[in-house]
Amino acid sequence: MSLNFGRTILAIPGPSVIPDRVLNAMHRASPNIYEGELIDLTASLYPDLKTVAQTKHHAAIYIGNGHAAWEAALENTLNAGDETLVLSTGRFAAGWGEMARRIGIETQIMDFGMQGQIDPNKLEATLRADKDHKLKAIICVQTDTASSVKNDVAALRKAIDQSGHEALFMVDCIASLGCDRFEMDAWGVDVMVAGCQKGLMTPAGVSFVYFNDKAAEARKTASPSLYWDWYPRANPEAFYQQFAGTAPTHHLYGLREALDILVHEEGIENAWARHETMAHAVWAALDVWAQGGVLSHNIEDVAQRTTAVSAINTTGAESTALRKWCEANTGVTLGISLGFAEPSETEWNKHFRIGHMGHLNIHMIMGTLGAMDTALKALNIPHGENALTAAAKLLAQRA
Ligand SMILES: *Cc1c(COP(=O)(O)O)cnc(C)c1O
Repeated sequence: MSLNFGRTILAIPGPSVIPDRVLNAMHRASPNIYEGELIDLTASLYPDLKTVAQTKHHAAIYIGNGHAAWEAALENTLNAGDETLVLSTGRFAAGWGEMARRIGIETQIMDFGMQGQIDPNKLEATLRADKDHKLKAIICVQTDTASSVKNDVAALRKAIDQSGHEALFMVDCIASLGCDRFEMDAWGVDVMVAGCQKGLMTPAGVSFVYFNDKAAEARKTASPSLYWDWYPRANPEAFYQQFAGTAPTHHLYGLREALDILVHEEGIENAWARHETMAHAVWAALDVWAQGGVLSHNIEDVAQRTTAVSAINTTGAESTALRKWCEANTGVTLGISLGFAEPSETEWNKHFRIGHMGHLNIHMIMGTLGAMDTALKALNIPHGENALTAAAKLLAQRA
């Protein structure tokens, strides 16, 4: 007998669950791309995108995924031969650095491993040692989706300021925007990249580069290609030029609906608070399961965890078994291992992730945890009992 009937949930760290309202907003005839409603709708996105990132500066929209935003940010600020410092805490800053290297930018990588934050003191020391200010940019992520660490962006800014260095501070918020608190202007971030398919609840295909005036100055000597140039995208005069071609018509409708939900109905502060509560429910369950001695948090320190995703380790291949059992039997898809000593299969099977970003309520989070609890029992994986009670108590207290 199969019990796997009904609606599935994609509980991976992006793409996230898409609200029906967003899907429905996209279900329409092709709009006129030269005048009328779509032009006004697109203009209305910018103020809300800036609210989500807590910035008064500039935002550019690209047709493409997060990797496109990575490339756009590099193209607009750096030239081949420029030196950059990449602060790695998992997989994604290194991935951004690799993209830089492939377009001729020099990358110096500081690796902080898979289980903790960037150390601001080490950053400050490295910047102080760069007496001639050869480093043109510092590249990092707020939330690394592979390790589930959240870096302290404000502390990194402080370290940069204390060193007196003027490199551009570039932060990837692809996993964290709309989930973890982020304040671009208050935290002194010069360039920030994000995508639409995680905290912003829209089907993958649109991404964003935010930049301040200092970064806008850097563009003048970076000579970006016609396609990647952020200027016409951030200072729209003609709609066709704004996207260097046809606009992502239906994505714009979807994004409008998603921003209505996030900015105008829930509010960004509430969204951050909701993510924190949902994450704590997941962690409360994992604290109990961990008593069985097999499952454990990848990031031990609660203060260093992102509220968007949790990376979980197992002593053996239980991670893969649990993930596969859940997908086959429960309708819940959990996230694969990423960045942990690949390509060793033995190591790969020891990690998995739960995405808890975006459009998420209590029944969805409890459903995912309930599916996992069932899988642990079906597979006879040792685990502490009453994990769901712990999660429910936490939610009841905070709701
Ligand atoms: C998902 C993600 C990316 C890559 O985004 P794509 O849309 O898959 O290109 C980059 N950085 C972080 C932190 C991510 O979570």
